[in-house]
Amino acid sequence: MARIVQKYGGTSVGDVERIKNVANRIKAVREAGNEVVVVVSARSGVTNELIARAKSLHPSPPDRELDQLVSIGEQETIALTAIALDAIGVLAKSYTGAQAGITTDKVYTKAKITGIDGKSIEKDLQAGKVVIVAGFQGIDDEGQVTTLGRGGSDLTAIALAAAIKADKCEIYTDVDGVYTADPRVVKDAKKLQEISYDEMLELASLGSKVMQTRSVEFAAKYNVIFEVRSSFNTNPGTIVKQEVAYMEKVVVRGVAVDKDQAKVVVSRIADKPGTAAAVFRALAEANINVDMIVQNVGHDGVANLTFTVPQSETLKAEKALAPVLKAVGGTVTLDDKIAKLSVVGVGMRTHSGVASTLFTALADAGINLELISTSEIKISVVIAKDKADDAARAAHKAFALEKL
Ligand code: ASP
Ligand code: MG
Repeated sequence: MARIVQKYGGTSVGDVERIKNVANRIKAVREAGNEVVVVVSARSGVTNELIARAKSLHPSPPDRELDQLVSIGEQETIALTAIALDAIGVLAKSYTGAQAGITTDKVYTKAKITGIDGKSIEKDLQAGKVVIVAGFQGIDDEGQVTTLGRGGSDLTAIALAAAIKADKCEIYTDVDGVYTADPRVVKDAKKLQEISYDEMLELASLGSKVMQTRSVEFAAKYNVIFEVRSSFNTNPGTIVKQEVAYMEKVVVRGVAVDKDQAKVVVSRIADKPGTAAAVFRALAEANINVDMIVQNVGHDGVANLTFTVPQSETLKAEKALAPVLKAVGGTVTLDDKIAKLSVVGVGMRTHSGVASTLFTALADAGINLELISTSEIKISVVIAKDKADDAARAAHKAFALEKL
């Protein structure tokens, strides 16, 4: 007997047929003698739809009301899942975040979990019930409903697995696991048997949106080993866990492409102390996520600063920079026809030559590099968006990822 936490994403519970399918899977695991706690998302599309409805009434709805609103998406699916289980003779009970004892801080729409009181869940497991918990939601110390940020059901599952000391945590989604590249683009991309938290984090934050980034950080912090797998078949998925020495034998484990970035060039700003500080302070104050900063060597007292931001934030960035440029001179140009390609692997810590392999492969494919940045386990380049798919295939081949 094992204690298992399973999380089913929005597509897995997208309609009643799929909820039936999920119920049958849960039944099989329960009848094999396991204790089962299930976390579900809202049906896919529901959260977006609810937010859109709120925005049709108000350009920026109060965050408290938004949380009150979107939390109903998961409240629907927990009850339906429990009902589907009851219909096939499985004892089950649904829990909202509050009922499950998931407490958070007061930051509506992106609350952090501060604690989980698993006593009621524990009691129901002892009584042989399957416990179904609403993902993505909690309650603050004043009883207000909060949510954990988009994709937050993953976090609920990982945090619950830690709190109730589960033996296994399975994240069910509509993909078979984590791949060496997007299989729709790179035909011979391979499913990885395992991957380290650090690699998963880099891949997740780079546009391979398999899981919410915060949930992977949480798993790393509390050492929750989990498996990403599909709810539509029984194939084994990808195990995500702490890095172990043998993982470093593989230099590159994945290629990720992010097409939702834009390049911002601030040209001809004063080349003197404090200019970069002023530029990035303005961006920080506007809460803009800046990445890949490059400054060229100054000439004639002026310099150029180039960086990337999420495409959705380019106009906000332009607006934030206007007053600064008034003070220090310079002009802004935006380019959203770019993509960021990254190769990721913990093996980079102990191997050299990764950059030259990547750059040679991209050069041979006729792809120009506009920006380059590196970290301990990642090399990223900015390239033209219309070359991004070719670039992903070239990089995948250069590191022989189809043989992993
Ligand atoms: N329903 C929420 C969302 O769409 C949470 C989740 O799906 O994990 O972001
Ligand atoms: Mg999701």
